[in-house]
Amino acid sequence: MTDCIFCKIIGGEIPSKKVYEDEFVYAFNDLEPQAPVHVLVIPKKHISNVDEIVEEDKELIGHIYLSISKIAKDLGLEKGYRVVVNNKEHGGQSVSHLHFHLLGGRQMTWPAG
Ligand code: AMP
Repeated sequence: MTDCIFCKIIGGEIPSKKVYEDEFVYAFNDLEPQAPVHVLVIPKKHISNVDEIVEEDKELIGHIYLSISKIAKDLGLEKGYRVVVNNKEHGGQSVSHLHFHLLGGRQMTWPAG
């Protein structure tokens, strides 16, 4: 999608600190990290939010979670980590390209704000 900053990151038009990439997924460090490890894992296919996921994306969403687990292992997060998806306005989503926050390297607290 032409106007999407995460699509531009995937395309290399906007620089990013890449952590992982394969045919379907791109992962990069968040610009404003909220934890010692804060990686954004995104599908290369533009999907605006959770509600825009369709039947044919089922395998892709599973692949994203397998990628998250692989990235976490590579980054030494064996003690655990948090995966967050902010969805639409009330969910606190600021970029309209589905993304999974992978947060780790410290103890997380609950409930989230
Ligand atoms: P959300 O608020 O869930 O939509 O998350 C969007 C995230 O994207 C925020 O944590 C931002 O810090 C992050 N972000 C926005 N622009 C960039 C960028 N150019 N590079 C890396 N992270 C970004």
